Amino acid sequence: MVFDDAILRAAPPLATSGINALWSQEDTVNAFATGTPMYFKADSIGTLAEAAGVDAAGLVATVAAYNRAQAGSEDSLGRQYMPLPIAQAPYYAIQLQSWNLTTYGGLAVDGNLQVIRANGTAIAGLYAAGELLGMGRLMGRSIPGGMSVTPALAFGRQLGHDILRFKA
Ligand SMILES: Cc1cc2nc3c(=O)[nH]c(=O)nc-3n(C[C@H](O)[C@H](O)[C@H](O)COP(=O)(O)OP(=O)(O)OC[C@H]3O[C@@H](n4cnc5c(N)ncnc54)[C@H](O)[C@@H]3O)c2cc1C
Repeated sequence: MVFDDAILRAAPPLATSGINALWSQEDTVNAFATGTPMYFKADSIGTLAEAAGVDAAGLVATVAAYNRAQAGSEDSLGRQYMPLPIAQAPYYAIQLQSWNLTTYGGLAVDGNLQVIRANGTAIAGLYAAGELLGMGRLMGRSIPGGMSVTPALAFGRQLGHDILRFKA
């Protein structure tokens, strides 16, 4: 995440909570001042890139493209909400790491947990339960705690107990 001094002052808090405590905008400012790992500050975009370990020419070009888009109407991603340019030193970068906890897409099944094709016909002998069904199936657009493990256990038991007919 790359921004400038004007954005730091004008934007809502850029990070709102730490692992063990609330994290304020003042904490963010202090993190840059004290050289906290993953927080980088520099007087130019090029030196910011070097400090953050990213390609300097690439970041300079990316910021220039953003600023051109910001002066216009939208960027190459279709983004229109760009209130400020990245133009006022010092410049800041925060290293972000993304992760994926569960998978929302999955296999479609019928009422017997038998996997079905796009046309709705069942595939003989193929059943699915657990995360393979996709978390969106049971959670919609939310993430209720326990709604991954519990259905995995419940549907697995249902398959073994009621649906599949294993030979002794
Ligand atoms: C960090 C983390 C925290 C989570 N916290 C929660 C929580 O608090 N509450 C909650 O409800 N859910 C939570 N989840 C999600 C939940 O753990 C999973 O959705 C759930 O365990 C999925 O169960 P599953 O049996 O479908 O799949 P898995 O537990 O992934 O089991 C699949 C098994 O198949 C095995 N396997 C894969 N390929 C093969 C193969 N070719 N041959 C044989 N075996 C194979 C794998 O080794 C694995 O043991 C969390 C997930 C993560 C990653």
